[in-house]
Amino acid sequence: MAEQQSLTSDAPVVLLFRHDLRVNDNRALYAAAQTGKPVIPVFILDEHSDDVRPVGGARRWWLHHSLTALETSLKALGATLLLKRGATQNIVDRLLDETAADMVLWNRRYDPPGVDTDRNLKSELGRRGLTAESFDGHLLHEPYLFKTGTGGFYRVYSPFWRAFSAGPDPRDPVSAPDGLKPYDGPTTSDRLKDWQLLPENPDWAKGFAADWTPGERGAQDKLAAFLDDAIGYYGNDRDKPAVEATSRLSPHLAHGEITPFQIWHALKAPDLAAEGQGTDKFRKEIGWREFSYHLLFNNPHLATRNYNASFDEFPWQNKADDLQAWQRGLTGYPIVDAGMRQLWQTGWMHNRVRMITASFLIKHLRIDWRKGEAWFWDTLVDADPASNATSWQWVAGSGADAAPYFRIFNPMLQGDKFDPMGHYVRAFVPELKNLPDKFLHVPWLAPENILMEAGVVLGGNYPHPLVDHQAARQQALIAYARIRKGS
Ligand code: FAD
Repeated sequence: MAEQQSLTSDAPVVLLFRHDLRVNDNRALYAAAQTGKPVIPVFILDEHSDDVRPVGGARRWWLHHSLTALETSLKALGATLLLKRGATQNIVDRLLDETAADMVLWNRRYDPPGVDTDRNLKSELGRRGLTAESFDGHLLHEPYLFKTGTGGFYRVYSPFWRAFSAGPDPRDPVSAPDGLKPYDGPTTSDRLKDWQLLPENPDWAKGFAADWTPGERGAQDKLAAFLDDAIGYYGNDRDKPAVEATSRLSPHLAHGEITPFQIWHALKAPDLAAEGQGTDKFRKEIGWREFSYHLLFNNPHLATRNYNASFDEFPWQNKADDLQAWQRGLTGYPIVDAGMRQLWQTGWMHNRVRMITASFLIKHLRIDWRKGEAWFWDTLVDADPASNATSWQWVAGSGADAAPYFRIFNPMLQGDKFDPMGHYVRAFVPELKNLPDKFLHVPWLAPENILMEAGVVLGGNYPHPLVDHQAARQQALIAYARIRKGS
């Protein structure tokens, strides 16, 4: 074990990568370069303990490609990325032994097991007299910075956002270092392909590459395209799933290929001043990400426990067949099915449709929100420990800041309002593409001859509705009344 080593100028520095797969605005990387020491960058895939939630399937696909991009960027700076799998502390210990490094740097994580691991690492390294330093990057402000008047955490977004807006200005991004001093001692690394992050047999991610370019370059291109084309109508059109009015930066943010600081800074460009409404709204959505981490930090079990404990008694039905129909996009409600298929085909789903599909699972099917959260965790390329848990609890009505349970999304009205021309449904539910707009969100109301002309066979190539909307709504309200009585 590397006890009490001296801080010599040529002892290398170990630089940990986890959810920060970039070289720009990477303060740990920048600090490592500034030391003038040889740098050993290492990505650690730490899924060793029961507390750590394994990376979901869609994010594994992303991770493979993002690591490939990071390897290339680091090589251009002069360093070789090592890949290691296992418990962070053990891997760091071994590296320190092998390389006699006397310094370990990283960017902070905010998922609860990550926080614990890194806290223990810092104190253990400090105890041994080694330098261990962490930096910001994932969030604009530390999740504990803002406190209510009574010293607690914010449960509701609006006051959080007011406090945030009155708080310190987020710092400017830092540039990538000009170069890194390579470490030329012996090291070992896993081979990326041995991690088998890419799905095979079947390759269910084969459609992802058409929509996404994992890595820092892809992130910057998405930001530039959004600021050039869409931000002006973001305020008006961000709820329309057929319109490319949102940034699609979420998977890049989740993997740390871009930082909120870079986005914040880009929004200050003078030519965006005219897009006032769009930029303000967009900043507020970035604020929801910050708020979600604020909630997670103060409620580490947010993904597994009802924030509002009265929901512990909720009489969920949890029918396995219903869950499967929802997962496969076969509920018979076109907007719900389109969303679930977009998720499966692209690894992403539009925010409005996330709300509709989540509400349908929880309220129409009365399936525990945690089953939906877990499915999203596995299938979203942007699966995020804070935003996913917060949003599912928001829809369920069990969260800190939550839509009231009795507000039940009507999938037909939502379809009419947000996909009036049916472009979204037609893109993902092609068996309905020839139905007239009038029946697109309610195929079961279409007369037989119209269905026939459109080639739709209900119960054949497209399902009958899994549940009746009105009846399901009533049942959901009755179930809710039972927990309200108990609370
Ligand atoms: P934009 O509209 O362009 O927004 C820019 C960024 O702001 C996003 O990339 C995201 O980082 C942040 N943001 C926007 N809306 C929200 C929000 N409601 N909550 C938190 N952050 C937000 N987002 C995730 O990043 N990961 C998840 O796992 C996730 N799970 C969700 C589950 C449900 C049931 C719901 C209703 C929402 C979930 N969201 C999640 C939030 C939101 O749907 C996505 O952040 C958004 O759709 C990403 O697309 P975008 O980058 O184009 O968003």
